[in-house]
Amino acid sequence: MTRLPRPISLLRDATLPDGTVVDVVLAGELVEAVVPAGTGRAPEGAAADATLDLAGHLLLTAPAEPHAHLDKALSWDAIRPPMGDLELAISSWRAYAATMTVDDVADRARRQLLAMLAQGTTSVRTHVDVLLGDAPTRGAEALVRVRDELRGLVDVEIVALASQDSPDADVEAVLDLGVDLVGGAPHLSRDPHRDLHRLLDLAERRGVGVDLHTDESLDGPDTLLELAARVAGWTTNVTAGHCVRLGSMPADRRDEVVAAVVASRIGVVANPITNLYLQGWEAPVATPRGLTAVRELLTAGARLAAGADNVRDPFNPLGRSDALETAMLLVTAGHLTIDEAWHAVSDGAREVMGLPRAGVVPGARAELLAVRASSLAEAVASAPADRVVLHGGRLVARSVVTRETAEPPRPHAAPRHAAERPALAPSTDRTLTETR
Ligand SMILES: [Zn+2]
Repeated sequence: MTRLPRPISLLRDATLPDGTVVDVVLAGELVEAVVPAGTGRAPEGAAADATLDLAGHLLLTAPAEPHAHLDKALSWDAIRPPMGDLELAISSWRAYAATMTVDDVADRARRQLLAMLAQGTTSVRTHVDVLLGDAPTRGAEALVRVRDELRGLVDVEIVALASQDSPDADVEAVLDLGVDLVGGAPHLSRDPHRDLHRLLDLAERRGVGVDLHTDESLDGPDTLLELAARVAGWTTNVTAGHCVRLGSMPADRRDEVVAAVVASRIGVVANPITNLYLQGWEAPVATPRGLTAVRELLTAGARLAAGADNVRDPFNPLGRSDALETAMLLVTAGHLTIDEAWHAVSDGAREVMGLPRAGVVPGARAELLAVRASSLAEAVASAPADRVVLHGGRLVARSVVTRETAEPPRPHAAPRHAAERPALAPSTDRTLTETR
């Protein structure tokens, strides 16, 4: 039986995205050296199980998830909501949220967080609703509990997601539980700019960062420029999620907003799977893509990340909250290169979240994902389940898949003519081929 978490001091024969094969020496939570394969040495006295053989694995910076909703995750089957747009999702969710308990939320959040960890995500920023009604902190209590339980395996940051109907006192009660940032969705408010400034005032008063759901519609309010103007010069972390409106506005206006975003150092988080699902229901012909202007943001030098957002809840019935899935959607729907897409869910996401540098670089934190693939394109295309996950230099998850594929049956009698032989000759005498 595998002992996890387990400190690791040497990774052998790992393939990097540029194709080189290396050994990686770790020292505590950090990468110490990256050397040619076969030349890495574990430190004297290191345990035998502190070396991992990663032959056949691609070694990457572990993904970070910059935009999750662990309080909502995996509720689809219990709610059975109608499919539809953001408004419909919100009403389905609110009806359910009124009935849920702290234990319900914690159970779903724990399951989802462990699934994300097994897929390689070692840092997660999750929103939690400031709930309406008499017990507004139920969701936050659950997520704080799960964050504390899984400390040491995965880092979790929590954002208090306030609606326009959440009184300041309720938002502060959620923050008082140990929630990290102020959030909200001003574009859904009756007075978006007023709600935006209320939330920013609150964050300033508390001295915490801000992560807002921003302009999550194709043609609704446009608050990003106002946000950029207000936070210019702030030293706390400021993140704008979704920014769907930015992807659909006229180019000259878009360029003005993008320039302000770059100048203010706001991090932008695109959430392709949820916004491809939620937006565009009213346009059955040439359905628009609910995506922010990812190319223009990158070209202008903005800090860009991408997240998986909702997973199997009224806001998105499907998905795995897997960074490889998010990267694939950025390529397919956002036309980023595979390298750009992977950056947005790993190093770029860490940057937007304000986390220390990680990856296969001396001095960086050993937040690492090894996935059974020979190239980044193969990894993003096939999202192999075989993965090895390190958090702070410790092995925290490992998945090994055994696949058996039957060989085509052999003909009972030899064909009469050579030309009738099957084109696909069995390559082995075994009846089953094992692939690992
Ligand atoms: Zn969200």
